[in-house]
Amino acid sequence: MIYKTKNKDIARERVKTLFEQAEEIFSEDPKLADRYVKLARKIAMKVNLRMPRGFKRRFCKHCYSYLKHGVNCRVRTQGDNIVYTCLVCKNHMRFPLARK
Ligand SMILES: [Zn+2]
Repeated sequence: MIYKTKNKDIARERVKTLFEQAEEIFSEDPKLADRYVKLARKIAMKVNLRMPRGFKRRFCKHCYSYLKHGVNCRVRTQGDNIVYTCLVCKNHMRFPLARK
């Protein structure tokens, strides 16, 4: 499925929907969830859309697996960072800890 619009708003909606679908399908079919993530990434790249903040932490930037806390992802804090460990490829991602 190739997505051709240049419209970032539509792309953003599409990405959001794909992440929602990935979340829904994950428990039944994690592989399909991964495919949704890859598709969402493709769509975002096509229109030069930066991944919305909330979605960045929901997939592994190394292997693009959909990540679900406590299932295939471990979350730890380390100083001022939150460290996500992808249990699929064992790589880490660091995000600055949100300050309140
Ligand atoms: Zn990974």
